[in-house]
Amino acid sequence: MKNLKFIIKIAIFTLLIFMNTGLTFSQEKSNRTVKIAKNVYSFTSNNGYYSMFIITEDGVIVIESVSTKHSKEMVREIKKITNKPIKYLLHSHNHWDHSSGGQVFLDIGATTLAHIEAYKWMKANPGRDMAIPKEYWNGNKKEITLGNSTIELHYLGMNHGLGMTVFILPKHKLAYIADLVTPNRVLPMIVPDFNIKEWEKSLKELLKMDFNKAIYSHNEKTNGLAIYGGDKKDIKLLSRFIKDIRAGIYNELKKGTPPFEIPNILKLPKYKHWNKYDEWLALNVWRILLDEWMGPFPWKANN
Ligand SMILES: [Zn+2]
Repeated sequence: MKNLKFIIKIAIFTLLIFMNTGLTFSQEKSNRTVKIAKNVYSFTSNNGYYSMFIITEDGVIVIESVSTKHSKEMVREIKKITNKPIKYLLHSHNHWDHSSGGQVFLDIGATTLAHIEAYKWMKANPGRDMAIPKEYWNGNKKEITLGNSTIELHYLGMNHGLGMTVFILPKHKLAYIADLVTPNRVLPMIVPDFNIKEWEKSLKELLKMDFNKAIYSHNEKTNGLAIYGGDKKDIKLLSRFIKDIRAGIYNELKKGTPPFEIPNILKLPKYKHWNKYDEWLALNVWRILLDEWMGPFPWKANN
């Protein structure tokens, strides 16, 4: 009898340990915050999107709200680290899948901010989960200083979406880059809303900018490395990949391959280890081919 009681106790104890481990594991899986530099953190709610926040003496600056769920979890994480108020939420660009969730920050009295081009689009195209930013900025560069930290906002032109902003923390030589670079993955599907030529121009400009580490809004690096971002090598590899697709297309045309057969023929085994190579490479080739065929799109004057 005594033995049975002991066995039951051990069984319950073991079960509790397992439950606890399971809980810890699922928590880690559902969201994650990592310190990447002094007072700078990378955050994901494990939805394939990464945000960044900076804690200054006078408050917190957050980049990329993503969604209400993502933002609420991020605010909870920030409050675990600091009791300083969240002063700014900065949007990278217009697209709903990045710019949603802003209301979470408006509700706690933060200033939400987007480039004027993104702002105008967001106003004209309200998303289900998207709040119109409280403020907008204009031009190619803006600086925000809060406490002892300065963050630079750079608009590099019509590369992807509208008002695409690259953020630089000069003191940390650290950047936050949305959608323009996704390490370890081919281009996104049909490469939606990218002006390829302008994009390549922006990639060149990024390489000249003063940072040596970047947090990318999407990152397919494995072994838990994605949240730590990457560096300029990721940008160089991407530039090379676009050039290799284009060179491959012209090579097939030279051989006499009918243009619309090229997406099904062209292979670039050098990039086979990249995520979505099998699924998306043909779509990527279609997009570059159409760009070469039709000319750059989307496009508008004065850009
Ligand atoms: Zn986008």
